[in-house]
Order: sequence, then structure tokens, then C-alpha cells
Amino acid sequence: MTRKRRRLRKIKLPKINLPKLKVKKKTGPRRRIRKSIIIIPLLVISLIFGLFYVPKMIDNGKLKDLGYSKEEITAIRELKLTKTILDNEWYSDYLAISIRDKSIKTEYIELYLVSSSLSDKEFLLYNRLIDKGYNKEQVLKLFKHLRFFEITPLLVFDYQEDIQVYIDDCIANKETNSEDYFVLSNNYYTHYQDAKPAPDPTNINLLVNKTYYVDASFEPVQIAPLSVQYAAKDLQLSAEAASALAQWCNKAISLKDEITGESPVRFYAVSAYRSYERQETLYNNYVKAMGEEKADAVSARPGFSEHQTGLTVDLAAVGSEGLSAFKDTEAYNWVIANGADFGWILRYPEGKTSITGYDFEPWHYRYIGVDLAKKVVESKLTYDEYWMLYLAPWNDEANTYPKVVENKQEENKQEENITEENITEETQPEENNTEEPNT
Ligand SMILES: [Zn+2]
Repeated sequence: MTRKRRRLRKIKLPKINLPKLKVKKKTGPRRRIRKSIIIIPLLVISLIFGLFYVPKMIDNGKLKDLGYSKEEITAIRELKLTKTILDNEWYSDYLAISIRDKSIKTEYIELYLVSSSLSDKEFLLYNRLIDKGYNKEQVLKLFKHLRFFEITPLLVFDYQEDIQVYIDDCIANKETNSEDYFVLSNNYYTHYQDAKPAPDPTNINLLVNKTYYVDASFEPVQIAPLSVQYAAKDLQLSAEAASALAQWCNKAISLKDEITGESPVRFYAVSAYRSYERQETLYNNYVKAMGEEKADAVSARPGFSEHQTGLTVDLAAVGSEGLSAFKDTEAYNWVIANGADFGWILRYPEGKTSITGYDFEPWHYRYIGVDLAKKVVESKLTYDEYWMLYLAPWNDEANTYPKVVENKQEENKQEENITEENITEETQPEENNTEEPNT
């Protein structure tokens, strides 16, 4: 038995080992094939990785070093801003936020680096300055050093060859200047120098100032007489403005003082529409009496008076004497607080003389319609600035920025002919007619 078993074992052993030997023999060449199948793609992948991903990883590292998060870096890649940002080594929190939420406007990327916050109005201002003739470097410098309300007057002022002088002036007056009060040490506005016809003069939003004028033949749309309930005798306004004045006055009349039972804020118009000829006579009389220089200080040259638009009134309070006394009345405070609700704005505010070209005129109001008046008041800009920013036609149609221009009306682009026509301003009302209206 033991022999038999031994024999059996001897026989069985090779049977068990055979398959193992067979496998070993067959796997040798297969492995070599598999190795080459794996190694070649690996080399290709490594090459691709080396060529494309390593530089990306290096860039990512640089972006991370600048301060961008992983999420921001992904967005930077999607927006294709990597090169621009790395070339300039740009980082700002505001830029990072804008990149992350994809609100960034990549065409204005340099602006993000010089401004602490940006919205549509800043982008619009940027474009308007370019339109006015400033180059990109000048505009970026302005945004870097100045606040929004310090830049907007430049839309009204002459083109400034040396922008640094203006910046230094703003910085020197930084402590006292604000949205409500803006005074500079130098003058940047040469009145009447580049006089242009007011674009779209039949539009209720037309601008008449020491640059934009209306022709001698211009007359208000649908001129209408003012009731003596709201105005001195024989005054007229454009029909829409006349109606708005009546509503404004009626509201004031309806308010009753608890003790007297009378309205404490009654006011009326002492001056309204003035024709070109009327203004010309007034101005010439001043010139005869005091010479041109002094006349310009107290009277408007014909064509440049807002009164010719038929959209302007000078107001006085019932019971108070003279126009200049208006600012000390309750009526003035009420008019200022409620004017926009009736479409009227104070045209020459206190502390904005360098922009408007006029001293503070508490009596002089301009009708522009309720919606626009509310926007102008909210903007805290003078109407000159507001118009130049939001309403003026563009020099170059291709440079328009219509999406954010809420108030932009149909543009009747006109030739900007510089005329040699004599110019006129108005700083004083035609007459100090404080005659009480018949009620
Ligand atoms: Zn006036």
C-alpha cells in the first residue's frame, strides 16, 4: 500500500504542477505587449500633461499667491482673464467678488483695479469721458484718485489737458466737498466758449446753459397763459409746464396752518417765458448801462436763457418781498422738498456755481417732468451733469452704452456747429415783480 501510495503521489505531483508551468511559459510575451500598450499612452499623457497642465498649475499657483481662491481661479480661467491678471499682478477684493459672481464686465477690467466699487453709472461715466476726448490712462487716473461726484463735473467743464491739475484741486478741497457742495480753487469752465445748439430742443429734457443755446426763432411748444392765481400778470409757459405749475401751486394752497387756517407755503411765478427779443433788449440795456463784462454778470445773453424754453419760472412767496427773500421763507423749504413730485427742479443750487456757471438762485426752477425730476434729485447731480451723463447724444454712435441709460431719449443728433453768435446767460430775473397774484 505504501508503495502504491508513493507511486500515486509521484504520479499526481506533476499533474498538479503542470498548469502552473504552462501559465508561466505563456505570460512572458503577453506581459511585454501589455507593458508597451500601457507605457506608450502614459508617455503621451505625460507629454500632454507636461505641455498643458504644468503651465496651468504654475499659473494657478501664481493666482493663488496673488490672493485668489480656488473658486475664483476656476472663474478666472472660464473668463479667460488669467493672462491679463498675471501680467499685471492684479488683485483687489472687489475684483475677486466680481469674478466669483461673474458680474465682472471684462471690457472694463482695469477699472476694477482702481475703483472700490463699480456700477452701471461708473461704466457710463467712463465711456462719457472717453467720448469727451480723455484717453484711457487719464480716465483710470481720475477713477483712481477721485470720487464719482468729483469726476462728473468734468463732463460739463472744458477738456482738461493736464488732468493732474484738476485732480490736485479736488484733493485740496476734499474735506469740504461733498455730493451737496462742490467748490474748486480754479475755474475749469469757459462760459460760451464752445457754444453749441441744444440738441433736440423740443424735448422737455432739453439743456440750456452756458454751452447749449436755443435759436432766436425758438419758441416753446404750445405756449399757454398762466392764471393770475399762480403768477404775476401776462406770463406764459409751455402748456405742460403751465399745468404742472398749477398743480404745484394748488397743492401748496391746499395746506392749512392749524392756527391761522391759511396755507403757510403759498408761492407764485414772477417770471416765466421770455422771448429771444425780450432777452436781447434786456441784455443790451444792461450793456449800455454798465458795459459788457458787468452785463454778463447780471444778465443772460439771448439764446442762453432757460426762460426762452418756456419751461422755467422764477418764484416768490406770497407776502414776502423780492426774489432773494424767497430762500428764507417756509414756501421755499416746501418747494424744495416737493418740487420733483410736480416735475420741477432747483436749477442753480447752492455750492454748485463752478458747475452750473450761476450763483445760487433759490427762486429759479425748471420743469423736466416728474419721472426725470425725481431721478435728477436722487442723483444729487446738477442738471448740467445729469444731462451730460445720461441724456446727451454720443459723439460716436458706436460708443453708445444704451443698456444702462434709463433716461436716454430718442437722440436727434445734430451737427455740433460752433457759432460765433453772441451768447447770453441769465443770472437775474427779468424784473423783481413781487406783485401779489389775484386769488
Ligand atoms: Zn430765472
